[in-house]
Amino acid sequence: MPVSQRLILATRNLHKTMEIRTMVGDNFDVHDATEFPDCSEIEETGVTFLENARLKALGISRCVEGWVLSDDSGLEVDVLDGAPGVGSSSYGGEEGNHAKNNARLLLEMAGKTNRRARFRCVMVLARDGVEIENFSGAVEGQLIESPHGEGGFGYDSLFKPTGHHQTFAELDLEIKNTLSHRSRALVKVIAYLQGQHAK
Ligand code: IMP
Repeated sequence: MPVSQRLILATRNLHKTMEIRTMVGDNFDVHDATEFPDCSEIEETGVTFLENARLKALGISRCVEGWVLSDDSGLEVDVLDGAPGVGSSSYGGEEGNHAKNNARLLLEMAGKTNRRARFRCVMVLARDGVEIENFSGAVEGQLIESPHGEGGFGYDSLFKPTGHHQTFAELDLEIKNTLSHRSRALVKVIAYLQGQHAK
């Protein structure tokens, strides 16, 4: 594989870009939708992660050349029947406001003993406006009762992955990147693209 196969992420979330760029290393030359301001904003009107991942990947892929990869992800809490789920980024009432999202989550979880949750990620690879393949990954864990740690983003400071005593916000990013829903989907994407390239 050439050192830099171009991969355009259908996201304007710089945390996602940073995590994915770190995980793929030198194998891919990673760009994201912030570099293509002329591509219109994609409305996430789907009711599943897959639907939203498709909307994002196809929307950007109609506007740029080459491989486009989208990530739609979120937190599923068992005792909340899977919420916040696809609504994770606006759970507190304001899109992308992580403090409000966490505050609402803590409120909903007050007094709950079953604190089991998982992060889920669905990725769609597209090219020339067509979906080529989709991939998913998940990581199981527990919600704690107050935020711990400064790293990461979103719900990281409330989520302890199974088998660890620290939250995603306390663990080094390198460790989060070996465990996370995003990394578990991404290893499948990389294997797929490397297989395509070897053909
Ligand atoms: P999306 O950009 O529509 O996929 O929304 C993703 C939302 O899910 C984010 O805004 C966060 O609230 C949450 N989320 C997804 N991945 C993570 C993660 O790795 N850590 C913490 N929160 C995450």
